[in-house]
Amino acid sequence: PRRIVVVGGVAGGMSFAARARRLDRHVRITVLDRGEYVSFSNCGLPYYVDGEIEDSYHLAPRTPETFAQQDIDVRLRHDVVALDPDARTVTARGTSESGTTREETFEYDDVVLSPGGNATIPPIDGLQAGFDAGRVHTLRTVDDSLDLRGHVDSGARTAVVIGGGFIGVEAAEVLARAGLDVALVQRSEHVLPPLEPETAHPVGEELERLGIAVHTGAEATAYRHNGDAPVIVLGGGTGPDGRTELPADVVVVSAGIEPATGPFEAAGIACQDGAILADPHGRTNVPGVWAVGDAVASVDAVTGERRVVALAGPANRAGRAVADAMLGVDARPIPAALGTAVVRAGELTAAMTGANRKALSRASIPAHTVHLHPTPQAGYIPGVEPLHLVVHFGQDGRLLGAQAVGRLGADKRIDVLATALRAGLGADDLVDLDLAYAPHYGSAKDPVNLAGMLGQDVLDGSLRLWYAEDAESVLADSLVVDVRGEDEFAEERLRDSVNIPVDALLERLDELRDRADGGPVRLLCSTGVKSAAAHRILAEAGFDSASLSGGLVTLRAAL
Ligand code: FAD
Repeated sequence: PRRIVVVGGVAGGMSFAARARRLDRHVRITVLDRGEYVSFSNCGLPYYVDGEIEDSYHLAPRTPETFAQQDIDVRLRHDVVALDPDARTVTARGTSESGTTREETFEYDDVVLSPGGNATIPPIDGLQAGFDAGRVHTLRTVDDSLDLRGHVDSGARTAVVIGGGFIGVEAAEVLARAGLDVALVQRSEHVLPPLEPETAHPVGEELERLGIAVHTGAEATAYRHNGDAPVIVLGGGTGPDGRTELPADVVVVSAGIEPATGPFEAAGIACQDGAILADPHGRTNVPGVWAVGDAVASVDAVTGERRVVALAGPANRAGRAVADAMLGVDARPIPAALGTAVVRAGELTAAMTGANRKALSRASIPAHTVHLHPTPQAGYIPGVEPLHLVVHFGQDGRLLGAQAVGRLGADKRIDVLATALRAGLGADDLVDLDLAYAPHYGSAKDPVNLAGMLGQDVLDGSLRLWYAEDAESVLADSLVVDVRGEDEFAEERLRDSVNIPVDALLERLDELRDRADGGPVRLLCSTGVKSAAAHRILAEAGFDSASLSGGLVTLRAAL
C-alpha cells in the first residue's frame, strides 16, 4: 500500500490524516510528532489557565490509541530531524518514555509537512523559555498550559506577558481573571498589531479595565532577580504607572512564531523567510512532499502577498484539501487566505477579515475606508452600546477588508463580511444583504447594510471623507467646523475647530464662506452622521468640504 508520512499531528496534520483515511481504507498513514500530545486544542490552551476549562482532559481528548482505531499510526516524541527527497525518507529522533533516544527512518511515497511554528524568543537579557525554575513560558503546548495553571494554583501573584498579539492578549486576560497582577508589554503602538489603531485601542482600554497594565511602545530588555524578586526590565516607554521594572513571578513570552521548517528547508524544500512555498493544492517544489498550516506562506486573497496566516481554520481546510488532491478526489484548490480572526478581551470582542490599511498600502491598492458606530441591537434595547466598524472598499466598490470591535455582534458582522469578501461582493451587495433581524439581534438596517450604504455614498461621490490620521495637517490647512450642538462642543472640542451646529448651517452659509475664504472646510461631529449631512449642504453650496470618517469617536480611538 501507498505509504504516507505526516509530520506534525495537530491541526493541519490530523485533518489530513482523518480525511485521507476516510477517502482510502488501504493507504498506510504514519504521523510523527515531537510533542507529548496528538490533535490537541491549541486554541483552548489559555482557558485552562484560569480554570474556565476545568479538566485538562478537554485540551487533548484524543490519544494515539484513538487514532489506532482508524488505523492511523501516531508516534509521539518523534522529532523529525531530516528529510531525504531522493531516498524518499524522513528520519525522526524518537524518545521513549524512559528518556532514551534513537533515530528511526520512515520511507514514504508522500509526506505531508504540518510542523507549525516555533515560538520566537526575543533577545532579552537573561531570558529563555523554560528557564529559571519554570517561571518563563511560552503558550503553545498542553504542558505550557498545565504549567501556567500550576503557577496560578501555587500562588503566583504577578505576571508579565511579552507580546500583545492575539495569544498574548488571551494569556494576559486569563492570568488577570485568575487573580494575578498582570502587565502586558507590546513593542508597537497598540495591542493586536493586525488591527487598525482605532479597532485596537478599545481593546487596550478594556484590558486596563481588567486591571492589566498595558505597556505599548515599550520593550522588555532584561529579565533578572532583584534579590528574591524576579522582574522584567522595560527599556524605552514607561508604562501607564511609570514603572520600569515589572514584578514577574511568571513570564509568558508570546512574541510570534517562526515556521518550524529547519530540516525541510535544509532538504531543498523551497521556502520564503522560512515558510514553505506550496502550490494551491499544497504541493511543494519536491515531488511527493506536501505542506499545510502555519509553516506555509499562504497567498493573501486580497493583496496576493505571500504571508504566514497562523490560524486554525485555514490549517484544517488545507489538511483536508491536500488529502483530496493526493487521493484523487475532485480536488478544489486550498482557498487563498482572508485571515479572518476574532478575539475576546474582557467584555469586548474584536474581529477582522481581509486586508487592513497597512496591507493595502504595501500592495498599492487604493481604497475607500468608512467608519461607523451603529448599534448591534435596536437602539432602544436597554444598555445597548455601539459597535465600531471599519470597512475598506476598492475603487470598483469591492469589499477589501473589515474590522469590528464591541460588546455584542462584532463576530457576527465580521463573519458576514468574511463571507461577502470570499464571494467578491461589493458595497451595493452589502446594502442588499437580507440579514436576520429582530430588536435583540440587529436593526432593520443591519450594521453590514449600513456599511454598504456608506460605501455607496463614498463611491458615487456624494460623501467625501477625511481621516483621523490626517488630523494634524487638516487642522493646519483647513477651517475645521464641528457641527455638533453647542453644549457638546463646549464640553470637548478639537483645537482650532469652530462650532456651527448642523441645524444652523444653512442660515450661516455666508458667515462660513467668509471664514473659509475659498479654502477647504473640514467637518466633524461625534460619529460622522451629522457631518455627512452637513457635507451635502456645503458641497451643494460649492464649498470644498469633507466629513471626518467615524467622527470624534474614531478620532479619539485612532490617535
Ligand atoms: P500546529 O497545530 O502547531 O501543529 C504542529 C505540530 O507539529 C506540533 O505538535 C509540533 O510539535 C509538531 N512538530 C513541529 N516540528 C516537528 C518536527 N520536526 N518533527 C515532529 N513534529 C514536529 N487559531 C485560531 O484560528 N483561533 C484561535 O483562537 C487560536 N488560538 C490559539 C491559541 C494558542 C495558545 C495557540 C498556540 C494557537 C492558537 N491558534 C488559533 C492558532 C492555531 O492553533 C494554529 O494556526 C494551528 O494549530 C496550526 O496548525 P498546524 O498543523 O500548522 O500546526
